[in-house]
Amino acid sequence: MDPLDRHICSHAYEQRQEHHGAVAPPLYQTSIFTFPDLESFSRAQLDERQHFIYSRGLNPTVKLLEDKLAALERGEACKAFASGMGAIAATLFSLLGQGDHVLRINQTYGPAVELLDQMARYGVSHDGISGHQDIGAHLRPDTRLIYIESPSSLRMELADLEVIARIARQHGILTLIDNTWATPLFQKPITHGIDLVVHSLSKYIGGHSDVVGGAVIGNAEVIDRLFANGHQLLGAALSPHSASLILRGLRTLPVRMAEHLRNGQAIAAFLDAHPQVAAVYHPSLAQGPAAEWAARQLKGHSGLLSFALHDSSYPRVERFINALQLMRIGVSWGGYESLALSPLRPDGSGQPLIRLAIGLEDIDEIIADLERGFTALDH
Ligand SMILES: *Cc1c(COP(=O)(O)O)cnc(C)c1O
Repeated sequence: MDPLDRHICSHAYEQRQEHHGAVAPPLYQTSIFTFPDLESFSRAQLDERQHFIYSRGLNPTVKLLEDKLAALERGEACKAFASGMGAIAATLFSLLGQGDHVLRINQTYGPAVELLDQMARYGVSHDGISGHQDIGAHLRPDTRLIYIESPSSLRMELADLEVIARIARQHGILTLIDNTWATPLFQKPITHGIDLVVHSLSKYIGGHSDVVGGAVIGNAEVIDRLFANGHQLLGAALSPHSASLILRGLRTLPVRMAEHLRNGQAIAAFLDAHPQVAAVYHPSLAQGPAAEWAARQLKGHSGLLSFALHDSSYPRVERFINALQLMRIGVSWGGYESLALSPLRPDGSGQPLIRLAIGLEDIDEIIADLERGFTALDH
């Protein structure tokens, strides 16, 4: 784990001397900030991006989180949001307009695709390709944004970030990546030339399944525009209380990710060797070009993976998941607890995969739980 990242998570930007030496950053649970005279009020109003005026704009607790996230991603600036979707929506609405096209690389987070579908009403179009396809061949004259997930969050697909960034630059197209799977500790897309990074803070960064939040990191000019055209106007501001919970999660992110890495890799290897398993999707098992991209881009792997049974009919997937006792059934991931779900539906629609969020429990206990699932398949 990068020593600078550990320092950012624990200490950077806290300015404790200004807060009576408080070890935990103070929670500025306030909607407004007042001024001693009209002149300083008017001066602040000239630039809402730099002054604490109203907590839909800037709030000191939220700003501390933003400063840390920008530093972790090696970006210039960050804006935090009420959810990952809030971050994605503000970004898309502030960057895109009538006649713009978005090229998506790999499977995009479902609600983000639904939002792009909705944006057809404002003249925005989109389509998607795999990271293995020729990006240049799929660009259109009206392509304004390339929206990447690498690794993606169902099949953990990868893409070559440096190649995409280079092609996009040549065409004056912005690049955005959803980096939620890897966290900034395991992947720093800006250092590979990507312009914008979005996160759901509800996953590993919050880390305790008790808070929803999101963030966008990028260069100061784009984040400024996002502040003016997206953050302020769409109003999906992160509450100071949520920011305080996320800052608390950030403190332990390096140690939690080290454990998610160990447990995730161990479970991927266990499933890969299991006779009942047809395929395992986890970047630690990537092959061909994807293995090279993983080696170049990822400093570690998180604990979110999926796999397919040899016979992935709905009744078998159902029997497997219902037999689990340690792992609960639920959406989301990134907390301390292991979770399982399947996008497969009783009518056979949806992808025939089982997705596991491997938590921080004892590895033998997790394996014993999976054995319960496999045993249930034989009965
Ligand atoms: C959860 C998630 C989001 C959306 O974040 P919310 O905080 O739930 O709005 C976006 N992208 C990925 C990959 C996610 O897993």
